[in-house]
Amino acid sequence: MRTAIVVGSGAGGAAVAKELQGRFEVLILEAGREFRPFAMSLLIPERLKKRGLLFDERHISLLFPSMRIRKTREGMVLVRGIGTGGTTTLSTANSMRLDSGLRAIGIDLDEEFSELDREVPISAAHRGRWNETTQRLFTVFGEMGLEPRPLPKMRRRDSCGNCGRCVLGCPSGAKWDSREFLREALERGARLITNCRVREVILENGRALGVTAIIRSRRRFFPADVVVLAAGGFGTPVILQNSGIRCEPGLFVDPVLCVAAPWDNALLNKDIPMPFAADRGRFILSPYFDYLSYFFNRDWPPGAGNILSLMIKLADTPSGTVTDGRVDKALTPEDTAALRSAVDICVEILRRVGVEKREMFFGTLNAGHPGGMLPLRSEDAKTLRPRRLPENLFLADATLLPESLGKPPILTIMALAKKVAKAISRDFAG
Ligand SMILES: Cc1cc2nc3c(=O)[nH]c(=O)nc-3n(C[C@H](O)[C@H](O)[C@H](O)COP(=O)(O)OP(=O)(O)OC[C@H]3O[C@@H](n4cnc5c(N)ncnc54)[C@H](O)[C@@H]3O)c2cc1C
Ligand code: SF4
Repeated sequence: MRTAIVVGSGAGGAAVAKELQGRFEVLILEAGREFRPFAMSLLIPERLKKRGLLFDERHISLLFPSMRIRKTREGMVLVRGIGTGGTTTLSTANSMRLDSGLRAIGIDLDEEFSELDREVPISAAHRGRWNETTQRLFTVFGEMGLEPRPLPKMRRRDSCGNCGRCVLGCPSGAKWDSREFLREALERGARLITNCRVREVILENGRALGVTAIIRSRRRFFPADVVVLAAGGFGTPVILQNSGIRCEPGLFVDPVLCVAAPWDNALLNKDIPMPFAADRGRFILSPYFDYLSYFFNRDWPPGAGNILSLMIKLADTPSGTVTDGRVDKALTPEDTAALRSAVDICVEILRRVGVEKREMFFGTLNAGHPGGMLPLRSEDAKTLRPRRLPENLFLADATLLPESLGKPPILTIMALAKKVAKAISRDFAG
């Protein structure tokens, strides 16, 4: 049987590995270790915050090793998950089909979304469990004509305790993340090496021979018949560039900004995060308790339960780059204008709830949906491989997305990764 290497075990990597195993002998190379949820009591970071000891978001990985932070020169905080399950382990479980851009270039994912419907527990029926603050916000959104809709969630309703800690890793296992696909791939015989950072793809005569990776400071070569890179929107472009393959300066990240205010017993930190959203085209608005801002931003007062906070998530202009040591990603004037108009709506929502404008404060600008640096074009619709790649080298993550979604991308990345796996099986399985 032919061998396939899959780099990364997040949304795209786990989906592609599960599909390929059996048709190929799959080896998954994962930079991080086994994911573990944030285990300690939140009173500990609360105490550190009160003493002024939490001041740089990059230190979060000392408390929670799977969450990794980088910052752009302009100070935007970039979040990703490094470990089994990738960034899906940090998700708020939102699940949306967002394939209009892919459809426009001739990629039909109907079959793959139907498969995911059967494989992932998704439901939007959680309204009955919202707390009073969430209910009140939903009403105000509605009164303002923002047409809020409950967000479909990838989670098992019955075992979800509404603890609000989704971004810290689900303590009960109620939340679905891509470790479930990874497990299936392993049960079918795939192999996984963790703590293994892939550096480059070795190319010869227009073919990929395999990859080199660093394991415990040692460089190792792994040969393969097919290589699939799914190291995420920040990871895959670095591997491509290390291998001499040019990417495009089209990085998007879906920036997030929270507008917040003190509010006694708001308890958004103890309710389903992002329970509903209003889609305003260029951005979505949703209630969201932002742990990173709470712990690290000094404008956020102590007392997590007494903060009312709204998230703006923006579809940014694809105009940034990532290299080995650096991410360049600045907001364009259009992005800033869209963000300003979103802030105005949030201020009005909070005002209607009863907050005075002078009491409001902002969260830290952050982002966790990177992608777009080697997008698919219409000429790639059949091969599902950007033209400049050798014929046995594929991508299966957000790097392939032709546009920023400004909304939760996991489901769409997984559907696309499944389609990529089918193209690989069609053209390469022996
Ligand atoms: C806090 C937060 C909440 C989110 N909530 C949601 C949500 O509710 N719904 C939603 O749809 N999306 C959400 N997202 C976004 C979503 O999680 C990501 O967009 C998605 O997981 C990206 O999938 P991917 O396959 O491109 O990369 P990832 O899932 O990030 O996977 C990349 C994998 O590659 C590994 N890797 C990286 N570099 C290397 C290397 N050199 N060698 C080997 N392995 C490597 C990583 O460890 C990781 O396992 C959220 C993101 C964040 C940060
Ligand atoms: S709210 Fe808590 S229990 Fe429910 S899915 Fe999120 S982390 Fe898991």
